[in-house]
Amino acid sequence: MATLSCKSCGGTDATKSGFVRGLQRYRCRTCGCNFTNTPPTGKPAAMKAMVVLLYAMGNMSLGMIGRILVVSDVSVLRWVRAEAEALPDPAVPADVKVLVLDEMWHFVKNVRPALALARL
Ligand SMILES: [Zn+2]
Repeated sequence: MATLSCKSCGGTDATKSGFVRGLQRYRCRTCGCNFTNTPPTGKPAAMKAMVVLLYAMGNMSLGMIGRILVVSDVSVLRWVRAEAEALPDPAVPADVKVLVLDEMWHFVKNVRPALALARL
């Protein structure tokens, strides 16, 4: 028999506490949480880490990552957002000013539109 551990605190001291959906239910003596001896749900952390790498470094779309890993694109989006929210704020020096460059405007201003499109 596999070791029995609480899904909330990880404690191994548990007592039987009836049945739920045909499965034996246990009650943790440490935290009082009820649980069954079933494998944890959800995708492994390694898959989520690979999703973040593919999105950030592989420049793949959320939908393409989802199709490759056979998960929904919404799940991929949630994993990427969760990792992004866990990151610390970037350290930006106070003397940096926001500068928006409109390169296309400068390009079109100096060249006729037909030539500008032809050069693209
Ligand atoms: Zn517990």
